[in-house]
Amino acid sequence: MIDLFSLVKQTGAYKTVRGELLSGRLSHAYLILTADGENLDEYLKIFARLMVCGKEHPCFNCRACRLIGENAFSDVVFYPKNGQSINSEDINSLIEESYLKPIEGDKKFFVLSQAQNMNASAQNKLLKTLEEPPEGVHIIIGATSEFPLLATVKSRVKKLEIPPYSADKLFSAMQQDYPDTAKLSSAIACGDGTVGRASALYADEGLKDLTDFCCDMICNMQSSKDVLKYSAKLTALKCEVSDFLSVTELMFRDLLTAKQGREDLVLDKQTYIRIKDAKGYCVGALVGALEKITQAQKRKKFNANSTMLIEWLLFQILEGKYKWQKL
Ligand SMILES: [Zn+2]
Repeated sequence: MIDLFSLVKQTGAYKTVRGELLSGRLSHAYLILTADGENLDEYLKIFARLMVCGKEHPCFNCRACRLIGENAFSDVVFYPKNGQSINSEDINSLIEESYLKPIEGDKKFFVLSQAQNMNASAQNKLLKTLEEPPEGVHIIIGATSEFPLLATVKSRVKKLEIPPYSADKLFSAMQQDYPDTAKLSSAIACGDGTVGRASALYADEGLKDLTDFCCDMICNMQSSKDVLKYSAKLTALKCEVSDFLSVTELMFRDLLTAKQGREDLVLDKQTYIRIKDAKGYCVGALVGALEKITQAQKRKKFNANSTMLIEWLLFQILEGKYKWQKL
């Protein structure tokens, strides 16, 4: 199991809820946002455990923590009960249950997951309870995006975001479950800073071909004729240009880190071994290449033509290499 807790524990969202809990000022409704739809339920369970467990941090081991993990703790009720999205029936049942006293403690929690799929009539039904929940009732709404939620819902909840994680944080949290470190580094580099996207990319075979291509390009691209050859090869791989940019960026960053004497900080060690003897990349050339990659990422956002963009970048990398050799 990936240690999601070690990741979420460091976020402002977690610290805010914990602070409010410790000072006895838990809000009656939270909206927890994360791009990681895949792990949203797990994140919400962590927050529910934090509020219920009673220890300094959730222990994951006591009866309440374990039962919350299995959706079986009587004072923490999860929705949707069936299927993918919360419907009016779910909200009717929430309203009814909200008037029943908690069984185990003095608080009752309602957790609404994947709320970005909740239709407008269900959202409208929820408004009154959100505004004035019965004593001891707290509502935790989880969503991958706030835009599908009505303004009237958003104005009644405390919004907290789980932001994208840095590559190093994701790497250390996922390393144990994803043993191919080269693949994991590339998957994280191409991802959006979430565990869900990184693990999906890890399983994607296309990423390996892309990494092979980038190693080959960095080590063997010597002339402008080569630029066209590599550009054609890359087009044939049919990968996303943004993935290509992320993978190359990671490689140049690792080369630069090592050149500056910090080989210990190289992120993707296995790939680094394959490219470390590439000729012609002094510090200046590597810094230049990274700047050009950043420019290419910006141009990509403005929908630049992919083939032209790739050729432009490869030429820039090559030119930088020779410019610095001449100095
Ligand atoms: Zn516990």
